[in-house]
Amino acid sequence: LFKLLLPLAAALMPFVTAETEQSAETFRYESDITRLRSLVIHSLYSHKDVFLRELLSNANDALEKLRLVSLTDRSVMSAGEGNVTIEVRLDEESGGKTGLLVIRDTGIGMSKEELTKNLGTIARSGTSEFLKKAEEGQGVDGNLIGQFGLGFYSCFLVSPTVRVSSLPPATSSNPDPIQYTFVSSSTGDSFDVFPDPRGNTLGRGTEIVLKIGEEEKEWLSTQRLRGLIDKHSTFSTTFPIYIKERQQ
Ligand code: ADP
Ligand code: MG
Repeated sequence: LFKLLLPLAAALMPFVTAETEQSAETFRYESDITRLRSLVIHSLYSHKDVFLRELLSNANDALEKLRLVSLTDRSVMSAGEGNVTIEVRLDEESGGKTGLLVIRDTGIGMSKEELTKNLGTIARSGTSEFLKKAEEGQGVDGNLIGQFGLGFYSCFLVSPTVRVSSLPPATSSNPDPIQYTFVSSSTGDSFDVFPDPRGNTLGRGTEIVLKIGEEEKEWLSTQRLRGLIDKHSTFSTTFPIYIKERQQ
């Protein structure tokens, strides 16, 4: 794995920035990603609601992975966080007109390297096939997105900036994991990764925070979210999804 990651890290050309966080490293998206991301954003302009389905299916996958790992290593379940759930929560953003939509799972989480690799690079076999299909004029629908593993980028359909914080479970090979945060905006070709200034607040798993602007405020309604979850119940997550009302 190390052999694989080293050249990758080198290719990503990290350099230190003082802008977001003191210790933030800025990485450049692979050029294919920049291309694919804008393709996703433009093609799904009138099907923005797929973002929730995609984020929930990722949360579900992360919980499945945790369950698999727990078969051989029970300690991953007991450490810190006993729940295996998905939570969808609305929060106020201090001072702004916008609100925050938070999707939180207690799944397998991502290390710093995994945040960088899984959200910032595409090493997936289907990429060129995807681009070919999309460029052949078949268009890009929600199914194509899910099929080719581009789901995460659909969060940019509703949010100009996305913040992902994640903490993997403690294991014998990684006894003291650290919570890291990934921040990216829908424009630009880079993203930041830094140790979460809040510390290891998550217990275990991943928290995705979408900043919802005035023009997208339909997503800041628990009723709307509940409706969507019911509508997409075909993706049938195995784990319970809780919706929390806006915290005042
Ligand atoms: P896919 O789910 O098809 O692999 P996505 O773009 O939806 O593609 O997600 C990319 C990758 O990011 C996933 O394969 C997974 O490794 C990682 N990921 C995304 N969301 C989560 C999450 N909530 N918990 C853990 N890993 C995640
Ligand atoms: Mg996915």
